[in-house]
Amino acid sequence: MIRSHECYNPYLMARTVEETAHIAPDVIARYEAVIGLEVHAQLSTLTKAFCGCSTKFGADPNSNTCPVCLGLPGALPVLNKKALALACRASLALGCTLQRRSIFARKNYFYPDLPKGYQISMYELPLATAGELEIIVEGTSKRIGITRLHMEDDAGKSLHEGFPDSDAWSYIDFNRCGVPLIEIVSEPDLRTPAEAYAYLNTLKQILEYTEASDCNMEEGSLRCDANVSVRLRGADKFGTKAEVKNLNSFRYLTHALEYEIERQIGLIQSGGKVAQETRLWNVAAGRTEPMRSKEFAHDYRYFPDPDLLPIVLSDREIEDVRTAMPELPAVKVARFLREYGVSAYDAGVLTATRALGDYFEACVKAGAPAKSAANWISVELLRRLNDAGQEIASCPVNPAALAELLAKVEKGDITAASGKKVFAKMFETGKSAAEIIAAEGLAQITDSGAIEKAARDVISKNPDNVAKYRAGNEGVFKFFVGQVMRETRGQANPQAVNEILKRLLA
Ligand SMILES: [Zn+2]
Repeated sequence: MIRSHECYNPYLMARTVEETAHIAPDVIARYEAVIGLEVHAQLSTLTKAFCGCSTKFGADPNSNTCPVCLGLPGALPVLNKKALALACRASLALGCTLQRRSIFARKNYFYPDLPKGYQISMYELPLATAGELEIIVEGTSKRIGITRLHMEDDAGKSLHEGFPDSDAWSYIDFNRCGVPLIEIVSEPDLRTPAEAYAYLNTLKQILEYTEASDCNMEEGSLRCDANVSVRLRGADKFGTKAEVKNLNSFRYLTHALEYEIERQIGLIQSGGKVAQETRLWNVAAGRTEPMRSKEFAHDYRYFPDPDLLPIVLSDREIEDVRTAMPELPAVKVARFLREYGVSAYDAGVLTATRALGDYFEACVKAGAPAKSAANWISVELLRRLNDAGQEIASCPVNPAALAELLAKVEKGDITAASGKKVFAKMFETGKSAAEIIAAEGLAQITDSGAIEKAARDVISKNPDNVAKYRAGNEGVFKFFVGQVMRETRGQANPQAVNEILKRLLA
């Protein structure tokens, strides 16, 4: 699973390049890609966009359907108020202007999984326009324009595999029909796969923060189409673009873009022309393949849906959306830097999700020093969660329990090394730090008698190193400290160890 604080890593994204491998890097470098993304996100509602059917994922096929979402004659759609509220919130969070009046339009086309014969979408008057998103790639910030955000409903799903007679029949599941979506269309401002990755990642984070969508990519809640063209660097006209459809993971997006850019450069270099068409990413073959030649908007015969009223938003309603807006990721990062003095890296990690930011703040509120809480959460806690395949919501160590542990480390009741052991046990057992320290006898040794005894043992066992130290090799001092810490199972007070060793070795 992709976590939103992960960053683009070309090594992880490595793939085998087949027929495009013959293009020399210096040829590729002469070109520039122009990329725009159309992202579809499922709004987090319990029921569908225009009827009361459940949107629950994984229900039995065709169990969440009714005359409205099946497009039966005479059925009338009614807009889901929650879906509209979430779409409005996402619009403002993405810096868009909410339109006072927007209109649902029918996008007409035939497909077996579309029983109405049209998709309810928005065309000339979308819900929101003219937004932007700030992305950061390799430390450099860039603004990516958002052309529009509109509402629409999803289609059903054709199942071509998984049945005993799948060689002869296709099956259709209409459960997704009428599920509320927003489509977010970017300006063609992206130039590299890394920028596209960062854009999708930032967008996903904002949709999660605003709870407009859970952005669960495995369940199809977030998918993306990419418009790609290439041109010689310095040219001001765009090349002909191809659209790569239905990229439902960050990995596919990156691979498909890399492939498509090279394919188009190869075509142009060999004197060919890029066709304006829709392509699909073939995961197994690692290449994009033509799907159909591109429809134009007029092919869809868009017209206003006569069954649905225009959406009319008053100043007051727009203001209410703005007031109810939760703190957004960029604002939270700035606040964490200012309020807690954490590093920029930690601020980025801690704000990756709202839940993680909340966890950190609860920990500080419970008395943990901010910097050490930031450090422990971004290193120890996230590593253990990752290893256990768990989310912060199900973390067995609650913020107050972590704060208690950090207070003990801070006060010197246990050493930092023991603290990590205690934390591991807390994570495994859900017990408190105090219980584990008592049961395991991990309390820090401050008794100088015990430390001195360990130090004398170490010194008597290592006459060679003693001689080296006394001859002026101060580097060996670390060796003695390490040995004493080992003898005391990492529990000796490090300052006391230093002092006692210095005295005995003098
Ligand atoms: Zn329905």
